[in-house]
Amino acid sequence: MSYIAAQLREVRQRIATLAAAAGRPEDSVRLLAVSKTFPVEAILEAYRAGQRAFAENKAQELAAKAPLLPADIEWHFIGHLQGNKVAQVLRHAAWIHSVDSVKLLQRIDRLAGEAGVTPNILLELNLGAEADKTGAPESMLPELVAAARAATHLHWQGLMCMAPLDADEVTTRRVFSRLRELLSQHAPELTELSMGMSGDYAIAIACGSTMVRIGTAIFGKR
Ligand SMILES: *Cc1c(COP(=O)(O)O)cnc(C)c1O
Repeated sequence: MSYIAAQLREVRQRIATLAAAAGRPEDSVRLLAVSKTFPVEAILEAYRAGQRAFAENKAQELAAKAPLLPADIEWHFIGHLQGNKVAQVLRHAAWIHSVDSVKLLQRIDRLAGEAGVTPNILLELNLGAEADKTGAPESMLPELVAAARAATHLHWQGLMCMAPLDADEVTTRRVFSRLRELLSQHAPELTELSMGMSGDYAIAIACGSTMVRIGTAIFGKR
């Protein structure tokens, strides 16, 4: 078994264990393999091991890799998205996790309409209040929710966040729990919580994550 296949198996087993420990069905947590900076060969290795959902954080990198890979891969865009890259991302991504302004949301909606696609989106919040990170402040959520509900060419599915860099376990747990609370307050009918990376997905799953975004633990160090 290749290194990537072995890592992938280990991560999947750990997710199943963590989901069970939280009293949740195993398939309530989706594993997204974050393939940023890794070559198509590495992605193919994961693909051959059964992985179908992959995530990238740069529009150009996504556009360069996606056409070289099997068409049944489900691409997730998880990086900061500039307005002039939206059309490029919409050609490949079925999901955009990083919608953090009304302006960006409306642009995605309009361009999706023009392209005849209906992407799934998540609203990204910055709950750690770090100046150098993407994500909207919590105070902007009502405005974003209204815009997401008014959009016609996209499916708003839930919320996304990252724990602050180097946050301790208590802070991480507080941030992830807050995201879940905000989803149930603002959109109780929605289910998706994209939270948890290689270093903190155990906490995220305990806090209700439905999508974990894992790079290093599958592909190795970047
Ligand atoms: C890179 C990245 C990840 C994956 O990080 P790892 O620590 O390598 O698992 C998850 N989410 C986002 C938004 C990222 O940019």
